[in-house]
Amino acid sequence: MALKLFNTLTRSIQEFAPLDPQKKKVGMYCCGPTVYDFAHIGNWRTFVFADLVRRTLEFSGYDVKHVMNITDVEDKIIKRVRENKTTLREFTGRFEAAFFDDLKALGCREPHLKPRATGHIPEIIALVEKLIARGVAYQAADGSVYFSIEKYRGGGCCYGQLLKLNLDEMRAGERVASDEYEKESVADFALWKAYVPADGEVTWGSPWGQGRPGWHIECSAMSIKALGETFDLHLGGEDLKFPHHEDEIAQSEGATGRPFVKHWLHGAHLLVEGKKMSKSLGNYFTLRDLLAQGFTGREVRFLLLTAHYRETFNFTLDGLHGAKTALGRIDECVGKLRELAGSQTSFAGDPASIAPFVKALNEDLNISEAWACVFDWVREMNSRLAQNTLTPERAAIALGTWENFDSILGIGVKTEAEVPAEIAALADERIAAKKAKDFKRADAIREELKAKGWAIEDTPKGIKLKKI
Ligand code: AMP
Ligand code: ZN
Repeated sequence: MALKLFNTLTRSIQEFAPLDPQKKKVGMYCCGPTVYDFAHIGNWRTFVFADLVRRTLEFSGYDVKHVMNITDVEDKIIKRVRENKTTLREFTGRFEAAFFDDLKALGCREPHLKPRATGHIPEIIALVEKLIARGVAYQAADGSVYFSIEKYRGGGCCYGQLLKLNLDEMRAGERVASDEYEKESVADFALWKAYVPADGEVTWGSPWGQGRPGWHIECSAMSIKALGETFDLHLGGEDLKFPHHEDEIAQSEGATGRPFVKHWLHGAHLLVEGKKMSKSLGNYFTLRDLLAQGFTGREVRFLLLTAHYRETFNFTLDGLHGAKTALGRIDECVGKLRELAGSQTSFAGDPASIAPFVKALNEDLNISEAWACVFDWVREMNSRLAQNTLTPERAAIALGTWENFDSILGIGVKTEAEVPAEIAALADERIAAKKAKDFKRADAIREELKAKGWAIEDTPKGIKLKKI
């Protein structure tokens, strides 16, 4: 049963087929955070969606290489570095660390590679040089280097692959004289931004003088370096389709002459209480705000995972209370099954319960249907438990079923309150590594946990975490 996903490039639901001739390896790039503040709950919707895609692929047996960049140089960051009278690294380092703590608290598997833009300046410069050599980029009078959409299209390439663009409206070819636009056409975008005094110490040398990279080129340079000139999957929130992703395609295909990405996946946005989130409306939440209100990472994850990724999701605090109740039902059922199973184990689970769940997710990640399968299973287990018709063997098989569900949902076992989210996330990753028979990784995680002061025990009832 093959996985089908909506591809923004073809505007259709397509069967996912990796480029790898062995059909095993999958390259997946997700545009990461711009680290100038704590990520908000809208950002988290997109990153939890990326985690769902990765887990679904891994469940299907693919060997996923998950890359997520860190945008650590950009206008807003530079402004805040100036305001805070600090250095770029000091400023972004704080938010980057917070981002990965939050990612773990939300039960997301850590990306295999987390490249920073500032760590890839030579690759970015080389890519810009390539674009200039190919005649699709030029240095303007202000010293900045721009991508020429007209030249790119003149060479037979298509600009507007993800969205239908009205290029006439974008007034291609017209020179706009303003402070901001020294470029030949308004549609052109900056690859390399010439130094201006407001950049302070955030500057690098280049063949075009001092300056810094544009945002779009960062992602092209880092994704090509990590995954090659053509790779399988590229993800992000829907707001990134244009111009960010369209520009990534233009830069990458303009430089390599090869198709950039096979499947583009975009997650719809999140609203809060029906409105666009904004600090002034008072409906702006970071994960930390919600944790401070007593909610947990798994409750937030559960809620974010209740809606289909292509539908706008309305986040409410009532919804979060509902998540608490729903998780309580699952925890209670799994807890009773554990008691009954005793020392019996079964990792395989019951195929009759697992198959419809997987089938739903294979249909363009039909998460509502997948949750319906989970709650049907909870209902059935509760009724069998109530009627005393489950043997310890059947209870163990049921627990195996839950573990199969949860390797995609990532809700996790209910952990004791004193187990920090970071430790629980590592334990979850170790379960996944063992399931994938990656025992080297599982052992490495055990050591990592030990170094952090925690011992992990495999018991017939599942894992046990103990403070050393
Ligand atoms: P940023 O840190 O602003 O670069 O955004 C990181 C990711 O969050 C991007 O993939 C955005 O598309 C996504 N994003 C931003 N706002 C929202 C929102 N309200 N709902 C869902 N995703 C969002
Ligand atoms: Zn990007």
